[in-house]
Amino acid sequence: MASIFTKIINREIPGHIVAEDDNYIAFLDINPLVEGHVLVVPKEETDYIFNLDDKVFSGLHLFSKKVAKAIEKSVDCIRIGVAVIGLEVPHVHIHLVPLNSMNDINFSKGKLNPSKEELEEVAAAIKKNFN
Ligand code: AMP
Repeated sequence: MASIFTKIINREIPGHIVAEDDNYIAFLDINPLVEGHVLVVPKEETDYIFNLDDKVFSGLHLFSKKVAKAIEKSVDCIRIGVAVIGLEVPHVHIHLVPLNSMNDINFSKGKLNPSKEELEEVAAAIKKNFN
């Protein structure tokens, strides 16, 4: 069965997409830790990041770097934190989290539940700054 992220990639369900190329896609986490929390995903569906082949693994990180630069320009933060968890969705993804404090990347804290309009606004800003 296709993962929820493959469904976003295939436009079968909505996603707040901020960047995309032939092999990778980045979209907002629907329940972000902080505003501007983005997931970067290889289109090829693999469960575990360390099972990716080297080309996809390195390409994912290079794509994430470009997305992080766009987030930096769009959201008030000191820098972008990076995490890989993967306990909920079995399709590789890198979390990019704008940081102002250590607690901003605490995955045990309660997550936000922004409105569609709030997500659309931040997605549009990141998309505009992606190049
Ligand atoms: P994890 O697999 O533990 O790294 O967490 C998966 C992340 O995906 C969580 O932060 C969820 O909020 C996020 N998530 C789950 N479903 C969606 C969705 N449909 N669109 C965007 N983000 C999602």
